Amino acid sequence: FSKRVAIGKSHDELTELAHSFNELAKSLEQVDRERNAFLANVAHELRTPLSYMIGYAEGIQEGVIERNKGMAVIEKEAKRLDRLVNDLLDLAQLEGSDYRLDKEALPFAELAREAVAAFAWQAEQKHIQLELELDEDSIIDADWDRMQQVLTNLLANAIAYSPPFTTVTVRITSSNGWAEMVVEDEGAGIPEADLSSVQKRFYRVKKGRSRQNGGTGLGLAIVQEIVAKHGGDFQLVSQEGKGTKAIIRIKEIDVGAFKEGEQR
Ligand code: ADP
Repeated sequence: FSKRVAIGKSHDELTELAHSFNELAKSLEQVDRERNAFLANVAHELRTPLSYMIGYAEGIQEGVIERNKGMAVIEKEAKRLDRLVNDLLDLAQLEGSDYRLDKEALPFAELAREAVAAFAWQAEQKHIQLELELDEDSIIDADWDRMQQVLTNLLANAIAYSPPFTTVTVRITSSNGWAEMVVEDEGAGIPEADLSSVQKRFYRVKKGRSRQNGGTGLGLAIVQEIVAKHGGDFQLVSQEGKGTKAIIRIKEIDVGAFKEGEQR
């Protein structure tokens, strides 16, 4: 009797094993499909600026495009390529299993002020007011350069997708050991149907508009990766025609414990 049970059991185990094997094969196929789709996207994204550059260079040589005008387009497209390659390298680096964040105790407010200051000129050109509401006591356990990149990408979007004479607000609050940063704009907003997809690589709501803004389509994917690497949380709340809130939550350092540690 015990033998029969044993056979039955081993049969179950085999079925289970075969099942997990099939599941594994399926997920490997899925990874393969995703990698192929990503490569196809990369090739397409690289080809677009290259086509412009080739077209304009030929136009200049044949005398059908005015030289300075053509060179300006070539420069613009070369810069786009440069941004794209940098973003791709950043993503590849962030996804590497050996990637380590250079974490330290950072005053979140100071980090935000520095990032916002870099956009002062750009915002002024577009008559966009930049406002700060910062909790000065929030200290996060984070990588300065990577968090600058997060803020830079979110501010660039908030400004790019907002009309003139609107306000972009950066707000930092703190509760229960977590810091929350919100970058809020009064811009175009993101349609409900696209909201869950915009963090995917190369996903854009309006391709033409993103191109016009010089976007690579990778900004939010990078934000997502960096925040996840910090063990934090990234969320977008948006209403079409009203505006968007990009919300980031990052763990704070217990300042009391931190100061004690410093004294030791
Ligand atoms: P891009 O380089 O195209 O801006 P992102 O990954 O940064 O790439 O953003 C993906 C898409 O999400 C954008 O193309 C745009 O359609 C939408 N988006 C991002 N941020 C905003 C925002 N603040 N307001 C409206 N749409 C936004």
